Amino acid sequence: MHHRDLIAHACAQVHPKQLKDGVIGDVGAALVTTTGHIYTGRCILTGSNTICAERVAIARMVSEGNEYTIAQIVAVWRDEHGRVYVIPPCGHCRQAMHDIDPQNIRITQVILSHDRVVPLATLLPYHDWW
Ligand SMILES: [Zn+2]
Repeated sequence: MHHRDLIAHACAQVHPKQLKDGVIGDVGAALVTTTGHIYTGRCILTGSNTICAERVAIARMVSEGNEYTIAQIVAVWRDEHGRVYVIPPCGHCRQAMHDIDPQNIRITQVILSHDRVVPLATLLPYHDWW
């Protein structure tokens, strides 16, 4: 899948809902599995917990699709003017991608911008430290 198409799926998840102590849906994510299925998610940031959009998409992939290998993944944030920014996964999400299936370290391509894509291994260089 072209990364522009996956970015569009992630953008479709951006629907901010302001909470008293947080926000839901100001970041959207999309992933495509190695079998070609697409899963999306939006962030859930409450006063007590934060679940990134990427991990919501990963949870849907696992629980709805019984799949574990990610071919590509992307997250986006949109500002108040509608400009879209592709944002990198946090450390927790990078580790989750690795931990759900160690093959992902080599096969998952992380989209970092409209013209930059890197393997998960680049973002998690010491994944096999211990
Ligand atoms: Zn994250």
